[in-house]
Order: sequence, then structure tokens, then C-alpha cells
Amino acid sequence: MKKLALHWQILLGMLFGVLFALLLTNFSWGPEFVSDWIKPFGNIFINALKLIAVPLILASLIKGISDLKDISKLSQMGTRTIVTYIITTIIAVSIGLGLVNLIKPGSAISEETRTDLITSYETDASVRIADAQKQKDAGPLQALEDIVPSNIVGAAGDNANMLQVIFFAIFFGIGLILIPEAVAKPVKDFFDGFNEVILKMIDLIMLAAPYGVFALLAALVVESPSADLFAALAMYALTVLIGLALMIGFYILMVWIFTKNKPGFFLNGIAPAQLLAFSTSSSAATLPVTMERVEEHLGVHKEVTSFVLPIGATINMDGTSLYQAVAAVFIAQAFGIDLTIGAQLGIIVTATLASIGSAAVPGAGMVMLVIVLAQAGIPEAGLALIFAIDRPLDMCRTTVNVTGDAAVSMLVAKSVDKLGPPNVKDWDDNYKKT
Ligand code: ASP
Repeated sequence: MKKLALHWQILLGMLFGVLFALLLTNFSWGPEFVSDWIKPFGNIFINALKLIAVPLILASLIKGISDLKDISKLSQMGTRTIVTYIITTIIAVSIGLGLVNLIKPGSAISEETRTDLITSYETDASVRIADAQKQKDAGPLQALEDIVPSNIVGAAGDNANMLQVIFFAIFFGIGLILIPEAVAKPVKDFFDGFNEVILKMIDLIMLAAPYGVFALLAALVVESPSADLFAALAMYALTVLIGLALMIGFYILMVWIFTKNKPGFFLNGIAPAQLLAFSTSSSAATLPVTMERVEEHLGVHKEVTSFVLPIGATINMDGTSLYQAVAAVFIAQAFGIDLTIGAQLGIIVTATLASIGSAAVPGAGMVMLVIVLAQAGIPEAGLALIFAIDRPLDMCRTTVNVTGDAAVSMLVAKSVDKLGPPNVKDWDDNYKKT
């Protein structure tokens, strides 16, 4: 029997997870059973993915950069990557703003619903609001200051700070380029081998993916909020979803136009990473799989993926920025605040920055939203309005975040002549561009 492709296996796992949980909610012991006996397996799966993320970034980035051989190549690729990331983010925010002004989901929220939502979620949301307050109180250069770690073990430790790990890896890679080849070689060989081991570990973890997502989705279903909350917020959710769907269309088009790769090729290649992003709500946890798919199924050379994808997972969050723009204007509409054109332009800037600053973990986009709200003069209590349906939207925006990273890596690879057919094992030796 032919083996089912990975994305179908994952999809089936998700589907069975949802059905299983729906079935069990009919029994009084059902939800507790899922929390006690099913959810832990989902957590184990996410932990295993996160466990791989830091060593993967270190090994692949150090190897990727030292392979570049000269610094000018690095700065060329770096500039293209950052510029493309910023452009896609601004496009995403603009799409979000356009849609939310067109659909006006906030005006459907009555005064009564607004008060209900705020009171029912105040306790939960206040934890997030306190978190967000810290972000807001930070000085203007705090984000820059945070990029340079004072201690690499701390940076890579609990709740690893990806940007700091990336900084260390790039710095180390540059050092490696600058020392004599004879001294550098054993170090490079070590990271080469290390990288291979990590890739194999990802393969092994992915064997468990269908079961992992089964557990994650089952746990989400039993913990999800009641249906009437959804109904009140349906227009808002729909606005975000339409925007996210447009972004996916935009990536497909860009890849098609600039790399001549058909939509089916791109989507088939990236699907497992998308499904994982959806199930885990974390670009960081999905990163190992994104890298593997983009290298082995979309034909992007390691030199490009090792640099573009870890940075993308950390700073390029188009789905998040689109969501932040929609959420901010939605809250303003719900509170009856009229936003001027100037305030909306301000949202483009702050949502772009806030999405760059959002960590690649579940719910981070909502925490950073407070910066957008504060800057535009929208009440922060509004976070309580959207809190109830943040998780499902987080799942969708993370999917877009990851898809955007993959699309940009293809564009950057094309621009530096490092995009080949997929599955070229020994890229440089076997693949000569025709
Ligand atoms: N969960 C998102 C991510 O990891 C960030 C967000 O909350 O928007 O990409």
C-alpha cells in the first residue's frame, strides 16, 4: 500500500483529534480525560520541536554563514531578506486596515456585548495586559539592546530568545569566515555533522506528528470558549480570516511570478509546516520542519534557508501584523472611537514594529498589540474583547507567518541564484543551473 503523504497524515490526525474531543464532551468525565491523558502528549510533541529549534539555528546558521566564504555575500543576502520581509509585512498591515475599514466588524458589537465580554474575561486578560504593560514601558531602543545577549547559555536557555541565539550564530559564523581555512575546517566539519544529526532528529520527531497534532487539537476543542462568544465576534474573526487568505494568495502569486513555480508545487511542499504551525500556534516550534520542507521540497539551497528562515520565524510575522491592524481598529470601532487617517498610518508603523517584536510563541501577537493600541490612543481594556477567540486566530495567523517565511526564502534564493529543483542532495556538485 502506498504510504499517505505527510500532510494528509497530519490532517487526518487533526480531524480525528477534533472528532474525538467532540465525542468525549458528551460525557461529564470527557474533558478531564482529555486534559489528563491526551493533552500531555501534545505538549511532549511541542517540547520536542522546541528542543530542536535552538541547536538547529546554531548549527545551520553557523554552517550556512561560514559556507558563504565572504562577508559581502552575507550582507547582500541580508539586505534582500530584511527588505523583502519589511515589504511583505507592510502589505499585510495595509490589507488588514483596508478590510477592517470596509467590513467595520466593530460596529456590530453592542454596548451590552462589549461590557459582557470585558467583565467575563477580565481576570484572564488582566494577566496578559500586565505582560503587555511591560512591553509598553520599555524604552525606544530596548528592542535593539535585547538583540545582544550578555550570556549565550542564558539566551539559549528556558524560553530561549531566538533573536539573541541568531545574533550569536551570525557573529560566530563571521568569525569563522575570517580565520585561516586550516583552523576553520574542523569547526565547520563539526557543525556540518551536528546539522545532519539534528535533521535526522527532526525526521524522527515528525514520525509522531500525526499523533502530536491529534492530542493538541483534542485539547483545544475541550478548552475552547462557548459558541455565543464566537457569534458575537464572528465578523471580526471573518475579517482577519479573509485578510489571511488574501496573504496566502499573495505569496502564491509572488512565488509564481518570480520563481515560475506553480501554486500546487509551493503548497504541496510547505503543507506539513503549515499544518504544524496551525496546530502549535508557534513559528519557533515549526521552524525545524519549515527548514526541512523548504530545502528538500521547494529547492532552496541550505545557504539561503539557514539564514532566511530562522530570522523570518523571529521577525517576519505578516499574519500577526495583519491581525494586529484589524484588532486595533475593531476595538476602536467597538468603543465608538473614530480613527483619523493619521492614526491609521500610525498603525501601519506600530503594527509592523510590534509584529517584528512579537516572539514566535502562542499568543505573543496579542501581547504586543498593546503597543499598537497605546500609540493610537485606543483603550487597552479592549484586549478583553478579543481575548476569547485569540487562540483560533493565532493558529491561522501563525500558518500565514510560516508561509510568508517560506515564500520569501524562495524569492531571496532566486535572486541570488540558489533556487534549484527539490531534493538535490549535493546541491553544488550535482545541480548546475541550465
Ligand atoms: N503565534 C504567532 C507565531 O508564533 C505569534 C502571534 O501570536 O501572532 O508566529
